[in-house]
Amino acid sequence: MAENFQAITTRREEAQGFIERMVSRGLGWARKYSLFQYPFVTACCGMEYMSMAGARYDIARFGAEFPRFSPRQADLLMVVGTVNLKQAPILKRVYEQMAEPKWVIAFGVCASSGGFYDNYAVLQGIDKIIPVDVYIPGCPPRPEQVLDGLILLQEKIQAQSHKLIDRHPPEPELVRPAGRDLVSGVNK
Ligand code: SF4
Repeated sequence: MAENFQAITTRREEAQGFIERMVSRGLGWARKYSLFQYPFVTACCGMEYMSMAGARYDIARFGAEFPRFSPRQADLLMVVGTVNLKQAPILKRVYEQMAEPKWVIAFGVCASSGGFYDNYAVLQGIDKIIPVDVYIPGCPPRPEQVLDGLILLQEKIQAQSHKLIDRHPPEPELVRPAGRDLVSGVNK
């Protein structure tokens, strides 16, 4: 048994845990229904993004209707379309400028995996440089798929742990393929 294992919790610790869980649930509920998206639109998926953002599909039902064109005011980065290697550092910079907590959606197969642009110029999935929460397949995805992806993200946000003050949020995990710097596009 590990030395630090604590078998007994006090009533005070139980109460603190209960309050922290209630606060986390409340913050999760508030955050999942007040997403401010930053649309990083690069290619033809943008047409479907506009369709999804229009009145017909009513994304306002999910509290995510307001795009923000400053990353500092956004907590949801929507990467819409093909990202080439020259755009990759810009995307990374935009992501880094967003405040925590923040989430990322890869909109369409190009953003998710490079799509059929399997060539030297295109980033083979934005998860090579930033962490992604939800991948939406399709070329382009239908607006209903995007809304499905948004609901998935809301469920994920609700299930996460939220704190009133989190001065040291965990660093997001990022798996980089060995041997190539995808931001500069230079082989190492
Ligand atoms: S997934 Fe298809 S529609 Fe979207 S950017 Fe790529 S090629 Fe264009």
